[in-house]
Amino acid sequence: MPPLTSSNGAAELRQPVRAYVGLGSNLAQPRSQVQRALDELGALPDTSVALRSHLYRSAPMGPPDQPDYINAVAALDTRLDAIALLHQLQSIELAHGRVRQGERWGPRTLDLDLLLYGELQMDTPELTLPHAGLHLRAFVLYPLHEIAADLTVPGHGRVDQLLAGCSAEGLERLQASL
Ligand code: ADP
Ligand code: MG
Repeated sequence: MPPLTSSNGAAELRQPVRAYVGLGSNLAQPRSQVQRALDELGALPDTSVALRSHLYRSAPMGPPDQPDYINAVAALDTRLDAIALLHQLQSIELAHGRVRQGERWGPRTLDLDLLLYGELQMDTPELTLPHAGLHLRAFVLYPLHEIAADLTVPGHGRVDQLLAGCSAEGLERLQASL
């Protein structure tokens, strides 16, 4: 078994980890926001995009007086550690003009949630893994199931079983592939 990091911690010597990212947007041409973000994920250091779901349209969660969302899920292979990956996701959000206004689940140009990082489980204010809403949300479970039906979500079970307990009401898979 090779060491997870070299003695100097060089990222390129770590084993890649399969991570899943949930993308969402409901402002400023949401489809284009999500598609650009998918390309930007592939351009992150020490990271490649292994799989992309279709785009999905979903009714907003939280305040109802906001546009529908466009969602997708991507599988990444990354040598970044989980916190470094989260920080990269936040940089992409900021580059898309995201303004955090304090309103929970309010409208946003781009939301990138780290859904899973290998089998890592942690619970800190900065990073909770698996993502706290993952096992409950149709707009996450349906695109995740499309690319990883056999996946087990640590602490919650298999994605196909989670999907079976989650209504797809308000969710529409869009035809255009990515
Ligand atoms: P939400 O996605 O719930 O609308 P935000 O995107 O504004 O909320 O994220 C709020 C905070 O959640 C961030 O400051 C981030 O540090 C924290 N957070 C905790 N776990 C995660 C995770 N798995 N993915 C993304 N952000 C997370
Ligand atoms: Mg978020």
